[in-house]
Amino acid sequence: MSDQNTKINFKKLDQSGRLEALAALGQPSFREKQISEWIYRGAESFKDMTNIPGALREKLDEAYSLPSLCVRTVQQSSDGTRKYLLGLPDGNSVECVLMRYEYGNSLCISTQVGCAMGCSFCASTLGGKLRDLEAWEMLDEYLVCGKDSGLRISHIVLMGIGEPFDNYDNLCEFLRRVHWPPGEGLSFRNITVSTCGIVPKIRRFAEDFPQVNLAISLHAADQAEREALMPVAKAYPLEELLAACKEHTEKTGRRMSFEYTLISGKNDSPEDAKRLASLLRGMLCHVNLIRLNPVAETDYESSDRSRALQFRDYLESHGVPASIRRTLGQDIDAACGQLRKKQGGAQAK
Ligand code: SAH
Repeated sequence: MSDQNTKINFKKLDQSGRLEALAALGQPSFREKQISEWIYRGAESFKDMTNIPGALREKLDEAYSLPSLCVRTVQQSSDGTRKYLLGLPDGNSVECVLMRYEYGNSLCISTQVGCAMGCSFCASTLGGKLRDLEAWEMLDEYLVCGKDSGLRISHIVLMGIGEPFDNYDNLCEFLRRVHWPPGEGLSFRNITVSTCGIVPKIRRFAEDFPQVNLAISLHAADQAEREALMPVAKAYPLEELLAACKEHTEKTGRRMSFEYTLISGKNDSPEDAKRLASLLRGMLCHVNLIRLNPVAETDYESSDRSRALQFRDYLESHGVPASIRRTLGQDIDAACGQLRKKQGGAQAK
């Protein structure tokens, strides 16, 4: 008797796993490409794969499953931003945000169910990390949102729930899969990975994926201030982090971005702007200032608009390119992890 639970998830297999599985069924290697192409096209059953012989389709269907993520909720903002709550096969859920820009459509995807990093202003980490997402699940976020919206998604930012560098191997496999030319063939240059600053992985990533853009969540230019906001700063102090960033730029030649969430009275003073400018001066970088999206469970407040402008102007006039990120989707629980929490998607006890 075969049912979904006794079958092996075919999407979980990487290319060599798929080749092996098909070789065991006496199949030539080109079948792997044919089947994988169907998966990129969103096939939910082997039965849909019309260029595969019927007998093989049946054999595959007996032994393997093709699960996919499901759309639980879509919230559409007045500015065109769409926020998705996607259901995973184990009942958990994650969020994606699809944003429309002049240069194309960009999808912000999640890398973990919850997050272990503990940043004090972030909703994603409140229930801790439940598990890592697998490479196929991250790819499915992209495929499912593309299919549901009917939009061609040209850019990906890994800035949703989770810390990408705390799920390094799955992240790398996802990047290979989304780049695979017969599938989506997304250019590495159109992908940005955001990290809270896990130094050894920043170094490794420069070797493994020099064409992928890197964003560093900095949020403070002072060690004590950063530690108070981000526990990861204790393990990887600012000095080490900045050294790794400089190495990354030297190795890749790519402009790095620094995310700096402005929190009223915590990191938004003229002194803070001055420290940040002297920390980053001379680096090939751009600072993205984000006004905090307040999270109900914390006391933090967003800096007001004039403070944010002052902060930006100081950086710009001291040789550090900076912009205030346009806040898209403010009317739809835009801050990371808020929708998942609200819908009880965390499933944490
Ligand atoms: N873990 C990765 C990626 C996920 S968070 C990282 O830390 O970079 C994506 C970005 O959103 C990070 O810069 C994070 O610090 C920021 N962020 C989290 N909660 C926020 C909030 N409530 N308001 C504004 N930015 C927030």
